Amino acid sequence: MELPENLKPKDGRFGSGPSKIRPAQLEALLAANPKYLGTSHRKKPVKDEVKKLRENLRELFALPDGYEVILGNGGTTAFWDAAIFGLIKDNAQFLSFGEFSGKFASGAKAAPHLGNIDIRKSEPGTAPDFAPTSEFDVYATAHNETSTGVMPKFAKPVGASDESLLLVDATSAAGGALIDAKDFDVYYFAPQKSFGSDGGLWLALFSPAALSRVADIKATERWQPAFLDLSIAIENSLLDQTYNTPALATILMMSNQVDWILGNGGLSWADERTKESSQVLYGWAEDRPFAQPFVADSALRSQVVATIDFDESIDAVKIADFLRANGIVDTDSYRKLGRNQLRIATFPSIEPNDVRALTKCIDWIIENQAAKS
Ligand SMILES: *Cc1c(COP(=O)(O)O)cnc(C)c1O
Repeated sequence: MELPENLKPKDGRFGSGPSKIRPAQLEALLAANPKYLGTSHRKKPVKDEVKKLRENLRELFALPDGYEVILGNGGTTAFWDAAIFGLIKDNAQFLSFGEFSGKFASGAKAAPHLGNIDIRKSEPGTAPDFAPTSEFDVYATAHNETSTGVMPKFAKPVGASDESLLLVDATSAAGGALIDAKDFDVYYFAPQKSFGSDGGLWLALFSPAALSRVADIKATERWQPAFLDLSIAIENSLLDQTYNTPALATILMMSNQVDWILGNGGLSWADERTKESSQVLYGWAEDRPFAQPFVADSALRSQVVATIDFDESIDAVKIADFLRANGIVDTDSYRKLGRNQLRIATFPSIEPNDVRALTKCIDWIIENQAAKS
């Protein structure tokens, strides 16, 4: 059985990362060859591109004076380790509500140089709250828990000490949802999700307090591997370069995406677009007797990664496999979650009408009994 051609979305990529890359990003890459690709990352053409990216991110996120856009290699996972060395002084409280937020928390817990690492955990599909005390110098959460599609509001915890920092993992949310710089100290992300580029890089918005924290820790005896040393990353970023060689293609495609979002109206435009796409999915699921949004609390439902549960009459794996066989890919649920579920990205690059088409395809698969369990 094949899906009727007229039902299919124009672009069949709905993965939560690496995510859909728009054709214009690839055209920009071709146009940048040979003056940019394959040239030194210490010379003007590449440094100009990094400078532009940093300036445009500053505009996109409306960063106040004193904030800096910092970048380095290794993706978000490397940034976690850098933060464990360079941002946590001693004690930290972590919110853990899925695979990604859990990984950062357990990484910090295992670090021999840190003190009390307090992990506040909740069931998948929900989110815990901070319980601030004067003890913690860092609080850490995720803007969007990509494994479950839970997107809690974040803000500096009330009652925390004035010197404490809030670190927000925005790997999948950044660029797809409105934020306010006063609500975080470090908002960090990677290019392969809402920015529709490729992986391997981390980017982080640092508040003045977070920049000072890095300098304070650097002034202590603590050993830090140079690759993970945030003072080195900051020093290089301010010169529009990275400590070691970055993927030039990733930077260029990311920069093109930021231009595209700004050209369409900026972060509020992207925010409305991802809300529209995700609402298509949640509304569709609520209207079907066999489906429902996984996240029960509608206020916690992600606007960039929608998770939809199916009842036992339907096999979500069969739906995802059938879609894949028809060129519509990566709608599978997060592997370790183990639910009868589809997980569908609604990042800014994804057309709301393609999301509408996807729901029609799923209806067709179910009507034609191709996903009976
Ligand atoms: C994808 C993702 C990560 C991991 O990013 P890498 O760049 O692969 O290290 C971390 N946190 C969240 C919330 C993510 O979505």
